[in-house]
Amino acid sequence: MTDTKYQYIDGEWIEGESDETMTVRDPAAPDDPVISFPQADRAQAKAAVEAADAASDEWAATTPDERDTILYDVADRIEDNLDELAATLTREEGKPISSSRAEVSRAAELFRYIASYARTATGDTVPSSDPETFTYTFREPLGTVALVTPWNFPIATPSWKLATALATGNTVVFKPSSETPMIAKRLVELIEAAGLPDGVLNLVVGSGSTVGDEVTTNERIDGISFTGSTGTGQHIAESVADRGIPVQTEMGGKNPLVVMPDADLDAAADAAVAGAFGLTGQACTATSRLIVHEDVADEVTEAVVERAESLSIGPGMDDPDMGPAVSADQDETNFEYVDVAADDGATLLTGGSRPEDIDSGYFIEPTVFGDVESEMQIAQEEVFGPVLSVMEVGDFTEAVAVANDVAFGLSASIFTSDMAAARQFTEQVEAGVIKVNGTTTGSQIQMPFGGMKASSSEQAKEMGQRAYEFYTHEKVVYRTDP
Ligand code: NAP
Repeated sequence: MTDTKYQYIDGEWIEGESDETMTVRDPAAPDDPVISFPQADRAQAKAAVEAADAASDEWAATTPDERDTILYDVADRIEDNLDELAATLTREEGKPISSSRAEVSRAAELFRYIASYARTATGDTVPSSDPETFTYTFREPLGTVALVTPWNFPIATPSWKLATALATGNTVVFKPSSETPMIAKRLVELIEAAGLPDGVLNLVVGSGSTVGDEVTTNERIDGISFTGSTGTGQHIAESVADRGIPVQTEMGGKNPLVVMPDADLDAAADAAVAGAFGLTGQACTATSRLIVHEDVADEVTEAVVERAESLSIGPGMDDPDMGPAVSADQDETNFEYVDVAADDGATLLTGGSRPEDIDSGYFIEPTVFGDVESEMQIAQEEVFGPVLSVMEVGDFTEAVAVANDVAFGLSASIFTSDMAAARQFTEQVEAGVIKVNGTTTGSQIQMPFGGMKASSSEQAKEMGQRAYEFYTHEKVVYRTDP
């Protein structure tokens, strides 16, 4: 790969001007870098914000038809390039190629679904208490928004943010994760090809602490939508708190899956394994705590361990059940948590080592710990790797108490055939997304998505019927005609 122009500012692809380079590695074969290129510096991030700000009035004045036509076209272009986009995604992020294909298809679906916000981000006409006064609300774009995204769904997450921002008439500065710049560049190229005017969308690829900091703290930014770790999200929210702009942060999770004795235990074990080890545990909604009723704990744990041990592991391009961790840092974190859990007294039931038959890459076996107690670090902190903690409880009340005994509140699931208990769970569990007899992972784009507690700013959910709310001001009008 020779194209090292990764910055897209005011309609031009240009080289980064930082002294720092960014190197993309295949997590399955990291010794042989895929590409290196200069990162953007702070001045380029500033220029990107200025370009977006300058383009803002004109883009806000476009008709919904003009905007949705472009976004529908982006959806088609993503589908037309599915094979190449999926291979790019797997190469830099590592996930199995079938998962990358599914993610790219979802990105196209997102553009197609969200394009409709251009025409549906409406206000309300409200019955007026005064017959002389017409009362209504309407929505207008925030202006220029900063979109900051992580690496784990590196085309889907930018797609739902970009499409929503653009459909509602905002201009954008997009700062993707430093782990996945190639797929970010390809996505922006496809949006550019669909005919977006210069300056409406800008891409800056560089480090979070300089480029990310500039695009979020620049005073021309009118709103920020961030997905990533809780530490970074809270830092961004605090750094702009005095400006009072809307800040949407979707952050980490420590997601519980509860199994009651009356559940379909096979289905529960399947869901726990899919949720914990699918995408190498690198989903914000990954199952990280399996909270099992003591009457069925042995049976469910055995089933989970057996399934975990049967998973195939390997490079994403071979389409295994589980690929590598994304980076050397995440690889180190995974093994650190294995040591921390063992030191705290948890029992290693399976995994915890590198697979014997693989000699390079950031691989770890699917790992299950038993005898985990709520006060242990492994029960409290997000690993973001394929490490599952099994926690035994005596009854439903204790299961909910354990489920809620963490700072996070992203997704939660219960397996039971008692629908009264299921309903109680949906009411009592502290999570933004709740499944009954389903995996903690996975979502439908027409349903809202987002967490509670330390998992989310709870400004507004993403996707679903009303995700446009975050990207718009709602104005309230009382009109009395003379
Ligand atoms: P991260 O380290 O917080 O990074 C996220 C983004 O923030 C990256 O683009 C990063 O840039 C940027 N960033 C870092 N420091 C910044 C700063 N000071 N100012 C502005 N931007 C800054 O998270 P990650 O490791 O990429 O992703 C994993 C995390 O995302 C996990 O915690 C996971 O649970 C969470 N996640 C949450 C959801 C959800 O919907 N709740 C979905 C997916 C993932 P650099 O890459 O250059 O550092």
